[in-house]
Amino acid sequence: MPLLQITEPGQPQPQSQPPQPRRIGLGIDLGTTNSLVALMQDGTPQTLPDAAGNPLLPSAVRYAENRQIIVGHAARQAAEEDPQNTLLSVKRYLGQGLTQIADTGPYRLLPTEQGTILFATRQGNISPVQAAAQILTALADRARHALQAEVDGAVITVPAYFDDAQRQATRDAAMLAGLKVLRLLNEPTAAAIAYGLDQPQNQDPEHPPPDQETDQTVAIYDLGGGTFDISLLRLHRGVFEVLSTGGNATLGGDDIDQLIADWLVEKTAQPPTSPAEIRTLRNLARTAKERLTTAESTTLDWHGQRTPLTRPEFATLIAPLLGKTTAACRRALRDANLKPADIDSVILVGGSTRTPAVRRAVADCFGREPLTGIDPDRVVALGAARQADRLVGNKSGPDMLLLDVLPLSLGIETMGGLTEKIIHRNTPIPVSRAQEFTTFKDGQTALKIHVLQGERELVADNRSLAEFTLRGIPPMVAGRAKVQVTFQVDADGLLNVSAREQTTGKLAEIQVKPAHGLSDQEITAMLRAAYESARTDIDQRSLREQQVEADRLHEALHAALATDGDALLPPAERKTLEQALAQLKQTREQGTAQQIAREIERLAKLSENYAARRLDTHARAALRGRNIAEYADRPTDRAKDHA
Ligand code: ADP
Ligand code: MG
Repeated sequence: MPLLQITEPGQPQPQSQPPQPRRIGLGIDLGTTNSLVALMQDGTPQTLPDAAGNPLLPSAVRYAENRQIIVGHAARQAAEEDPQNTLLSVKRYLGQGLTQIADTGPYRLLPTEQGTILFATRQGNISPVQAAAQILTALADRARHALQAEVDGAVITVPAYFDDAQRQATRDAAMLAGLKVLRLLNEPTAAAIAYGLDQPQNQDPEHPPPDQETDQTVAIYDLGGGTFDISLLRLHRGVFEVLSTGGNATLGGDDIDQLIADWLVEKTAQPPTSPAEIRTLRNLARTAKERLTTAESTTLDWHGQRTPLTRPEFATLIAPLLGKTTAACRRALRDANLKPADIDSVILVGGSTRTPAVRRAVADCFGREPLTGIDPDRVVALGAARQADRLVGNKSGPDMLLLDVLPLSLGIETMGGLTEKIIHRNTPIPVSRAQEFTTFKDGQTALKIHVLQGERELVADNRSLAEFTLRGIPPMVAGRAKVQVTFQVDADGLLNVSAREQTTGKLAEIQVKPAHGLSDQEITAMLRAAYESARTDIDQRSLREQQVEADRLHEALHAALATDGDALLPPAERKTLEQALAQLKQTREQGTAQQIAREIERLAKLSENYAARRLDTHARAALRGRNIAEYADRPTDRAKDHA
């Protein structure tokens, strides 16, 4: 993957091109409860069903006797009898350490040296990555069988809030499953793509819609089996930007089942007495819930008692649970600084949003009817399939989707060979960020901007992308000039860096195309190196910072002594200061961060008197109508390039 990988806007294909064999790009929804695989067929995305016609593969992996590994329905059914060897919801554990896992379930978890966990099973210790790979393998095999062909790659969806470790774990699982990851796609974005929200509504080239009208704000409400996510996205010229996310990682359809089960036990006074009965009760509850999606009422048959449950009763039962989800929606709106009326479309995702009471709660919360044209439990996989099809090179529409995040941070070099990150990795593009920098030396009239890419603290460990110089800064005291450096990454992945001096408006800029030649492996290696060396990097950073501080003080004091040292200091005091300066210079070269800091403090104390005298003299000079700058500023010929 090139650095800022995105697809170029589609050019209309010349008619004369020879037909090319269709390449196969799968869309995979790796869900907490259920997983699916989908594929573009004849211009529409389709989910691929199993032999029984069911598109959903329960995300359950059982490490059974005789080294057998069972994935799907049979595994889920065995969960109660064989809890420690049957892994449900492995997605919750991907890329997580022991401390991040709130509920360990029935599993025996072991910490690893890398900070992740392993499940102790009868087939040995299994990592969440390995278990997820089993699910991905099952889905890929389903596709291979259906198509009788090899797969070129897959787009795998992940929650918008997944962090680097969780995303990397997902990639690792795909690699183990022998799948080439075309891209990881955020689940809410996939849902929006499935609804075609990324395609311009008005494709009349004579009357392109004004820019602001192409902006859309979309809310994606995803209530699955065990998780609830709300995401607010803004769509701008084909790019989705995540505005805010929220939700509850332990709230979903399973909790609805539990509410019904508890209600039934209370009604009948018949608690379950064995693991098998617990399972029966839970299945009963789930069936009743799913029936109430289409029927007005249903009957639950438990321990020989028939108990009716109507839709309104059911709605009352789950109202508090739904209240939690709508509260999270309001929070997400607040975080994004939006009102419900700002939302242009609401999309429902997750099997649990089939329940009419859920749809009503969402409609009430946003003040508009949600889109429901596509099955909520398939919509993510369908969107991923659309995306996969484009990424393997089958241009299926007039418009390509522009969409990505920065794979590595972008920043500039600051004094001491340090990297100041301006845009952090994983920020969705397009994006624009500005930061103010200043001069290091008195009278400095130029600023060198060194553009870097990578996660490390030291410039030398990152990748240099470009260098340019802003000239014509009016000479001022060090630290007074204000230079605004702006990083802008556009939808095509082009990075534009500009530097503007604020008082004169002097501007210098450069365009960089960081899409230049880094492979996926190189990015991974860079990230791994950053992770492994975080500790030494921090030590190095504080050393560099103290060195810069020492240079700053040295520079200032040296300059001052040259200007008025003779006039203001008795020879003995001047000598003491010069000796301390020399000592600082030596410590700066050989000392530790702490030693340099001590030396800086000592020199600052020693020069207190001198500083006070200078201030005094300058104040009197100013009173005589002379410009204080004559004393403070250095001649411009000392200006040098500095980052
Ligand atoms: P996940 O995203 O967590 O993998 P899904 O989107 O597949 O999960 O949602 C699974 C949940 O949807 C389960 O709790 C299931 O009971 C629920 N569900 C499936 N069909 C229906 C239906 N017809 N009515 C209500 N809930 C349903
Ligand atoms: Mg889901």
